Amino acid sequence: MDALETLQAEAPARIGGAGSLDELKAVEADLVGRSSVVAEMRRGLGALPPDERPVVGQAVNKVATELAGLIAARRSVLELEAENRLLLEDAVDVTLPGRRIAGGAPHLITSTIDEIIDIFVSLGYRVAEGPEVETGWYNFDALNTPPDHPARAESDTLYVEFGDESDEMLLRTQTSPMQARYMQQHEPPVYVVVPGRVYRSDTLDPTHSPVFHQMEGLAVDEDITFGDLKGTLSHFAKEFFGPDTETRFLPHFFPFTEPSAEMYVSCFACDGSGCRVCGGPGWIEILGCGMVDPNVFDAVEYDPSAVTGFAFGMGIERIAMSRHGLTHIKHLFENDVRVLEQFG
Ligand SMILES: [Zn+2]
Repeated sequence: MDALETLQAEAPARIGGAGSLDELKAVEADLVGRSSVVAEMRRGLGALPPDERPVVGQAVNKVATELAGLIAARRSVLELEAENRLLLEDAVDVTLPGRRIAGGAPHLITSTIDEIIDIFVSLGYRVAEGPEVETGWYNFDALNTPPDHPARAESDTLYVEFGDESDEMLLRTQTSPMQARYMQQHEPPVYVVVPGRVYRSDTLDPTHSPVFHQMEGLAVDEDITFGDLKGTLSHFAKEFFGPDTETRFLPHFFPFTEPSAEMYVSCFACDGSGCRVCGGPGWIEILGCGMVDPNVFDAVEYDPSAVTGFAFGMGIERIAMSRHGLTHIKHLFENDVRVLEQFG
């Protein structure tokens, strides 16, 4: 009975001193658990003389009930405290600025290609794509480029070695091989544009990259003239650079067109007075073009006496850079988010 009284006297302070639910659990096990004084006394009741059992039993139960009540009360307090703490920790500050979700957008190269395609598709052109690993025949021979032409030198062209070296294999240096491929697969008339990646043995500098993109165009039909070429490409220039854009064509040389020209557009940044975009003269060179050489028609077994045509090719990076005032081609490949976001 002394032990019970001590327990009764000490228990409230111990229960009240439990600072957390875990601590209270330990105190509870100690006070009323299986190896507690209370449990021990209950187990010992049978050994007492019969007349003492009810008295001791009642006293034990009374203390046990009292302790259980104290523990339950303390538990409620601790649970409430824990809940309040959790609410505080999880509190949402609705005045904080939100997190911006980064939205995706087409890359400037992709959107430039898409825009050019749209202009030609609206004129009735189809879109085709071709292999990036080409044979020397499609990349050069079919395009009237003889074996000793300087473009075929290893200093300009990246050759690919396969097990069977009987075919000259290379990474296409231009999208033009699709001219020959497309004409072999289709009867005239042909109106097609070909976007794609091309490769040159160039080192990276502000305006050159060993990998870049081109857009090829080919129109073959009866009675196509240089006037059709100028009309079509001038229309493209106005659609792409703006309705006031003027064009001029200066003679040039390409193996697979005759005559050949380079097309210049009036500078959209300075209206001809000269600026950083055009480099002074007020004109920007944007593409090469010309009338399809009869030798190319021969190579793909088209009849040069029945059809004529024109072809053109433009560098996508060059056009995108001049239009957006980019000063280094690497900005189009490094995918720096700060640059991408400007044009997204
Ligand atoms: Zn200018």
